[in-house]
Amino acid sequence: MRPIEMVDLKSQYAKIKTEIDAKIEEVIHAATFINGPAVLEFQHDLETCLGVKHVIPCGNGTDALQLALMSLGLQHGDEVITVPFTFVAAAEVIALLGLTPVFVDVERDTFNMDIALLEAAITPRTRAIIPVHLFGQCCDMEAILKIARKHNLYVIEDACQAIGAACTFGSGTIKYAGTMGDMGCTSFFPSKNLGCYGDGGALFTNNDVLAQQLHALASHGMLTRYYHDMIGINSRLDTLQAAILSVKLKHLDEYTAARQKAAAYYNYHLCCYSNIEIPAVKPFTSHVYHQYTIKLKNSNRQSVIDKMTAKGIPVMIYYPVPLHLQKAFAFLALRPGSYPVAEALSQCVLSLPMHTELDEEQLEYIVKSLSEGLISH
Ligand SMILES: *Cc1c(COP(=O)(O)O)cnc(C)c1O
Repeated sequence: MRPIEMVDLKSQYAKIKTEIDAKIEEVIHAATFINGPAVLEFQHDLETCLGVKHVIPCGNGTDALQLALMSLGLQHGDEVITVPFTFVAAAEVIALLGLTPVFVDVERDTFNMDIALLEAAITPRTRAIIPVHLFGQCCDMEAILKIARKHNLYVIEDACQAIGAACTFGSGTIKYAGTMGDMGCTSFFPSKNLGCYGDGGALFTNNDVLAQQLHALASHGMLTRYYHDMIGINSRLDTLQAAILSVKLKHLDEYTAARQKAAAYYNYHLCCYSNIEIPAVKPFTSHVYHQYTIKLKNSNRQSVIDKMTAKGIPVMIYYPVPLHLQKAFAFLALRPGSYPVAEALSQCVLSLPMHTELDEEQLEYIVKSLSEGLISH
């Protein structure tokens, strides 16, 4: 059996090596390392693929979130709503820009923003909502957009873990993660569902004015070279990364299918254990399984982790500390108990190996080891 990894990028590369190496060589030979033709090419490919008017490539997913907020002209102290159970990036850039993060707790079953709690968090200073499509399934965007419209708020989707996930609206319209709000943000970090070989990110929008603003902000505030209309940042997607992404984008559907197949195996074989809760998927969304995250009930999580590790199976806790209890957000003075679902999840979640190269032998071994670890603790 091949060694089991949380994410197996080496085996994935081996299958597309010829294509990738040729593209890399092409960029190096042309020496068009910054803003080379591959960047524009990838931008257009992704626009077509997601059915979105504008893709704005940038340096990473965190920059994408920062640029999205910068484009809105918000004032110091304006409030932006997001969730406490996720990667830090959204809350971090809100705070970095002098805005105030306001958390809304998540749902226990989907790990996504609990819409029932959203309106109560809106104040006269609220300007935007950043829903996070966590682990690969979409938030209830129809409900979020309705509330946002009612209160005149911007919606910036954090789609860093959900590229390719599709959300179906009541009208029957289907839209991809990141293309439903005013702007969407994604990351091409190597382990993401569409990952490059370094850092990379992009914004999505159907709004022409925002698109132009975002292009300028990502490029030192300039639309015409050396004419700076606003204070921006330097955030670019390398040509080499764009070339790699062009190759990998062609395989995205197949990669998503491989993740879904592995998840289906896990679901089928783990659903029968009373002390495991398998991930729930809402009917209005597909799940692209950036992570396959279970909840352990009445179990000693650390002893399960130790047993899995001893058997050569890596597992991870995403996320061990909710954001409102992190030192960096102590200034918000939020106490334990403020977001009970996020806090409870951080104590019981466990993410199993999930990537495009898992085979049945590996999956069988993981499931068997997990069940033994649970029974014998
Ligand atoms: C990965 C990730 C980010 C940040 O992306 P980077 O490219 O690493 O900056 C932001 N939000 C979520 C939910 C992520 O998973």
